[in-house]
Amino acid sequence: MILMTSQVLPHVKKPATILIVEAHPDDAAIFAGGTLVRLAEEGHTLVNLCSTYGEKGTLDRSMTREKMIDIQKSESLRAADVIGISEVIFLGIPDGELQPELELRQQYTEIIRRVQPDFVFSFDPHIPYDPHPDHQATSRTIYEACLNCHLPLVFPDQLADGLKPHYVNRFFGWESSNPNTYVDITASLETKLRALEKYESQMQMILDETRNRSSRAGIDVPISRETTSKEFIREWITTEAQRIGKHANCQHAEAFNSIGFSAVRIIVEQLETEE
Ligand SMILES: [Zn+2]
Repeated sequence: MILMTSQVLPHVKKPATILIVEAHPDDAAIFAGGTLVRLAEEGHTLVNLCSTYGEKGTLDRSMTREKMIDIQKSESLRAADVIGISEVIFLGIPDGELQPELELRQQYTEIIRRVQPDFVFSFDPHIPYDPHPDHQATSRTIYEACLNCHLPLVFPDQLADGLKPHYVNRFFGWESSNPNTYVDITASLETKLRALEKYESQMQMILDETRNRSSRAGIDVPISRETTSKEFIREWITTEAQRIGKHANCQHAEAFNSIGFSAVRIIVEQLETEE
């Protein structure tokens, strides 16, 4: 287990480019927001790729898809400002319909070759317990794209269009059942919470869903009628950061499965063991 306290990317001596790949606009902020804030503060360039607009994230029967796209887009851009993300790319694939297939791998490969990231953050590719099909599709497909985007005969049309093959150094998977890297987010938790507050519609929906599901299940959850989504999210995220922090002997943390590629992985892991 490695705890990143003084620097999130300790072996990196110059500003890096980091690509964050989400299924829905609030995924990265929820699972990795504190780490991303720290990476931006350390001078790295953050580019966020949203695969969908998350436009089905509403319980309101009078809401339209177009209106939800506008809401999600503007909330996402406001949150990106708080975190320190410099560019947000929306792929615009319909929410709930991501497929872990060749077409998505091609789209992800094209973005990687355009952005040329040193590091990629997304869902851990090994998350069999996350039932959301979009999360499954994103994690598996972006990992596959990272693995092979340096090979010129993989989607060669992209090279004919002027893009270059590219090596991704390392993949950081959030929501992992097997984390090997913990990032101390005690100092960045407050900024993470402020970023999450920008996803107003989604935070309200998470609170409403929790209330509805628990009352239908007959479970008495300690959320009063007066509890606002802001208070609810603050409590939920802080408790989760404390829970992860206990594994890493710090107050608040986020956890990742950090995966290197091929022989480089073996060399770096050997160096880390020798330190
Ligand atoms: Zn999601």
